[in-house]
Amino acid sequence: MPEPPPLLAAEGLGVRFGDFRALGGVSLRVRQGGIHSVIGPNGAGKTTLFNALTGARPPTEGAVTLAGREVTRMPAHRRARLGMSRSFQVTNLFAELAVRENLRLAVQAARGRSAWAFWHAPSRLPGVAEAVEGLLSLTGLAARADARAGSLPHGGQRALEIGMALASDPKLVLLDEPLAGMGVDDVARTKALIRGLAPARTVLLIEHNMGVVLDISDRITVLARGRVIAEGPPAAIRADPGVREAYLGS
Ligand code: ADP
Repeated sequence: MPEPPPLLAAEGLGVRFGDFRALGGVSLRVRQGGIHSVIGPNGAGKTTLFNALTGARPPTEGAVTLAGREVTRMPAHRRARLGMSRSFQVTNLFAELAVRENLRLAVQAARGRSAWAFWHAPSRLPGVAEAVEGLLSLTGLAARADARAGSLPHGGQRALEIGMALASDPKLVLLDEPLAGMGVDDVARTKALIRGLAPARTVLLIEHNMGVVLDISDRITVLARGRVIAEGPPAAIRADPGVREAYLGS
């Protein structure tokens, strides 16, 4: 059977900052329903790649295709409507609002509801309460639903970020270092959460925790100095001498 078309594809992506080429000739095919990780030493271009894929900062060269549609110059909010979502940063949480309220804001925003509706007419929005309860359960935050988001420990805040990224019920979720700064227990919990997102959703992950990346990824793309130096399943990446060299040499 022929391989189905990728959910997200990049062809020859390049990003320049003045004379500096942060990304050059990067091609990527993210298959539907899998967990695809992007790894590489600091400064390799991972965040620049995410920005180009989401539309936060479009590439200077190349093309991005989402679900068969060219989106290279499409702004981030329109890509979101096509089913692409990126994890919020902790700084995007409303620290003074409860965990449940943060999720409700994200669900309502994803459905195009105004701030007015958030404060004045929440009970009239069909399906929102159910969606919020679903996200609380998925992220393991149900027991902390009424706690202020700012009072959650680091791991809980990161789980809430992922929950907010899922509020639009996306087909594709991009997670940028979701395990950063976590202790062992939170890493285990978040790893299980990410693993559970697929195959109903497709996950594109930037992550430094190699143990977790090798364990949960279907495919891994390795960047170094703005280029793809290896691409394949975890076993092939683990055995690749060029990958080891890129890490040891960084
Ligand atoms: P990574 O996420 O892999 O650590 P980045 O994508 O953040 O790497 O950065 C890739 C390279 O591009 C780095 O050398 C970085 O210094 C440079 N860079 C990133 N953003 C900018 C910018 N806005 N202006 C200039 N250089 C940048």
